[in-house]
Order: sequence, then C-alpha cells, then structure tokens
Amino acid sequence: MTVRRILTIDNAADLAVLKQISTPVEGPVTDELRRLMDDMLETMYDAPGIGLAAVQIGDARRVIVMDLNDAELEGHAEDAEADEGDEAQVARRNPRYYVNPEIVWAADELFTYEEGCLSVPEYFDSVERPARVRLRYLNYTGETIEEEAGGLYAVCIQHEMDHLEGVLFIDHLSRLKRERAVAKVRKNARLAA
Ligand code: ZN
Repeated sequence: MTVRRILTIDNAADLAVLKQISTPVEGPVTDELRRLMDDMLETMYDAPGIGLAAVQIGDARRVIVMDLNDAELEGHAEDAEADEGDEAQVARRNPRYYVNPEIVWAADELFTYEEGCLSVPEYFDSVERPARVRLRYLNYTGETIEEEAGGLYAVCIQHEMDHLEGVLFIDHLSRLKRERAVAKVRKNARLAA
C-alpha cells in the first residue's frame, strides 16, 4: 500500500482534475482496482480523514473509500465529531469500499453538518443534504450491496459521491463563502511553502 498525494484546490492543475466527472468502473472488481482502494485507504488514514474519492488522488474512476465507527454508521451523528481531516478519528480500522455507488433514494428531510474535505484543507462549513439515503454499490469483493445510510454516514457518502461528479462541498456554499474558502486554502498553502 502506498500513500499517494491528495490533490488540493489551491493548485490549478489539481483543481482541473477534481472538477472532472469520474467514469464508471467497467467489468468486475479486479486486483488492480483493489490495489487502488488499498492505496486510497492508506492515503486517507495518513491524512487523516474519514472518506476519500479516487479522483482526489488523480484517478477519475467511480471509487470511494470510507471509515466510520459503528455509532456513526447507525446514524447517531450527534455523538460524532468527525470531519474529513479530524485528527481525533485516526485510530479507526473499519474500512468500507464503494465501486460505482448510486443513490437510489433520498429522504425529503434535510440534515446540516459542518463538513471538511482533504482537498480543501483546514476549511469547514455547514452543508445541508438529505438526512437519509439508500445506496447501491459494489464492495471490495465485487458483491452488490444495497443499504440505507443516515447521520454522518449519509453526509459522508453524499460528500464523496459529489466528488465523482466534480463537485466539492464548497460548491454548495454561497459565492462569498466559497471565495473565502479558496482564499484561505491558498493562503495556508503559501504559508506552508
Ligand atoms: Zn471531500
């Protein structure tokens, strides 16, 4: 497993890749695809974060990895304090893999959560999304799974699936807030350089 570089929005070439629409994986889940997912997971744990889409390491296929704890998966997000990039969440090892995920149903009820993103480092803001979704995907071994997600799980899978459409969480914000986010990430990148 290899830790790969995570693309960030302060870099114009990275941003162009992040804006791509990812393409469906054709055929079965192969060892090559599992190696990609292993690298993604290693990269996500290293960051650290709780979700990563393949396009965030420059591979525009419809593949996501996540790691949430059981309470969050059951939808008790009010007990959780995780964001992508929250250091308190490093110690998890409950990896989940999604190939060609689709949302087959979304609740009318909305849920607001303070989101973050490894491609938009150190910026957090509130995004409103459907509170529950039903999703269908292929897992690590290529089985078709259909399940319902609520709480932080629903937030995270929708955030990651947005990446497959070239959409970042800051694209859900007002133009003013989005510009502020971009300016902050650029400034941090300059300070780190
Ligand atoms: Zn993200």
